[in-house]
Amino acid sequence: MLKPLLARLKQGHRTITYPDGEPPAMPDRFRGRPVIDASKCVEGCRACIEACPTEALTAERLPQVDLGKCLFCADCSEACPQHAITHLQDYRLSTRTREDLFVGAQDELRLARALDAKLKRLFGRSLRLRQVSAGGCNACEADVNVLSTIGWDIGRFGIQMVASPRHADGILVTGCVSENMRLALEKTYEAVPAPKLVIVVGACAISGGPYAGHSQQHNGVEGLLPIDLYIPGCPPHPLTILDGLLRLLGRIEVDSVRIQSK
Ligand code: SF4
Repeated sequence: MLKPLLARLKQGHRTITYPDGEPPAMPDRFRGRPVIDASKCVEGCRACIEACPTEALTAERLPQVDLGKCLFCADCSEACPQHAITHLQDYRLSTRTREDLFVGAQDELRLARALDAKLKRLFGRSLRLRQVSAGGCNACEADVNVLSTIGWDIGRFGIQMVASPRHADGILVTGCVSENMRLALEKTYEAVPAPKLVIVVGACAISGGPYAGHSQQHNGVEGLLPIDLYIPGCPPHPLTILDGLLRLLGRIEVDSVRIQSK
C-alpha cells in the first residue's frame, strides 16, 4: 500500500497545463495539418490525388484537401515527386462547419469559433456529453477516453462523459454510423434535452472515412443530425479533440491557420 502511494508522490503533478501553458510535445511520427506548397505543384500532375485512399484530395489547378475525409496517412506526400505536400505537427484542426474543412493551397483553415453567448452561458463551464460509438473501430473512442485520464483531466474544464443521454448536454459521435447503429444514434440524440450539441470525432463520423460509399453505413453523421463541431483525424490526437472542445466553449481564442507552407 505504501509503495504505490510513494510512487504516486514521486510522480508529482502530471496533468498538462494546456491551454494556459505550452501544449505537450507531439511524437516525431505525429502527422498533423497537411500543407501544400503551391510553388512546387506541377500543373496537370495528379500523383497525390491518385494515391489518396479516400478521395480527400481534388484539384482544378492546385490541390485542395478535405480534412473531413483525410486519414492523415501521408500516401499523398509519399507519392508527390515534388514533395509539395507535407504534414505539420500542428494539431489544431477543428471547425464549426463542413465547408471549413475544405482547404486549398491558398486558403486559411478557419478554426472552430465559440458557441453563441446564450449557449456559452449554458455549457461554457459545465458540459456533459454522451459518447456514441456508431460503428467505429475504437481508435477515436480510445483517444476520447484518454481525455478523462490524469494526464489530460477534462473534468477541470467542467467537461464530463456521462452514462445517460438524459443527463447530457449533447452527444459526441465516433464511427461511420453503421446501419445497425443508426436508430440507436437517433434515439440517443432525441433523449438529450434541448438545447443540445452534436460533436463528431474522426474521419468516419464526418464523412464515412475509409467506409464511405458502403451500403451498410451512412457516411457519418452529416444529414442525420445537426452538427456543431467537426474534429478531423484518423484518429484525432487527444490534443486535437481537447483543442476543438475548448474552442467550442470559448476557452481558446478564435484564430485561423494557413494551409499553405509559404
Ligand atoms: S494524408 Fe489525407 S489527403 Fe493525403 S493521401 Fe492520406 S487521406 Fe489522402
